[in-house]
Amino acid sequence: ATPMSIMVGVGRGAHAGVLIKNAEALERFEKIDTLVVDKTGTLTEGRPAVTQIAPAAGFDQPGLLRLAASLERGSEHPLADAILRAAQERSLDLAEASDFDSPVGKGVTGVVEGRRVALGGARLMEEQGVDLSPLADRAEALRREGATAVFAAVDGRLAGVLAIADPVKATTPEAVAQLKAEGVRLVMMTGDNRTTALAVAQRLGIEEVEAEVLPEDKAKVVQKLRAEGRSVAMAGDGVNDAPALAAAEVGVAMGAGADVAIESAGVTLLKGDLQGLVKARRLSQAVMRNIR
Ligand code: ADP
Ligand code: MG
Repeated sequence: ATPMSIMVGVGRGAHAGVLIKNAEALERFEKIDTLVVDKTGTLTEGRPAVTQIAPAAGFDQPGLLRLAASLERGSEHPLADAILRAAQERSLDLAEASDFDSPVGKGVTGVVEGRRVALGGARLMEEQGVDLSPLADRAEALRREGATAVFAAVDGRLAGVLAIADPVKATTPEAVAQLKAEGVRLVMMTGDNRTTALAVAQRLGIEEVEAEVLPEDKAKVVQKLRAEGRSVAMAGDGVNDAPALAAAEVGVAMGAGADVAIESAGVTLLKGDLQGLVKARRLSQAVMRNIR
């Protein structure tokens, strides 16, 4: 490859908000036939909002939200942000939390006003021995609408479920349609629940879904596809995504994402949407054609 056309390509990318780290990343992009894409923050806005609050017997909506928000003050997860904003909108006075823990990809636990509070997905609740049956149907209905169901437990008993919905980015449907039309195999990957993930994937026309993937397993999904002979790009935004970005032939970070994600990536999309990925792939193909 002539360095000159590569440099021109990198420059043209930068103009379009696509930062390409080096010549290799640009060259590799041409051969990409598979895109693994993180759901939260990549396909979706990554700015979810609380859309429903369903307390269990013995709790009311403000009380449930107040406990949840008091605990989430210790978390930087987008779901925590949604819960904190919901509490703020209702001007709830939050309490201090102690013994805070945040098992990655599962949720948060701690003590609020002497009560043991846990907040997160079904996996965390099972680990804590919480019986989900009173709200299991309700949670499943929320997920079928594409929302994430976040359960709350107090002293080991189910206290309620919050529906948190993360809208799909305005530019995602078109970018997905273009990538599919260009023959790219799309795989959605997420730590989120399978029903929620399938609801979002179906809306976008994405047929392959890897759901309920723990952070440490995200890179394995990429490695498995590469072992099948696919040329894989991985797009993600989070701290959790960094190993998967590094495992891909081309890692693609969202501009507004975590610093480690950007460091692990060969390409950064400054506008933070997949339209940039479509551009980067076309640019790479044009540059490589030019060189040959
Ligand atoms: P993604 O891969 O979609 O970015 P994560 O791996 O970050 O998702 O989280 C997976 C799941 O863990 C969430 O859907 C949620 O059920 C639970 N979870 C993680 N962090 C939190 C939190 N701070 N509060 C509530 N639930 C959480
Ligand atoms: Mg994410």
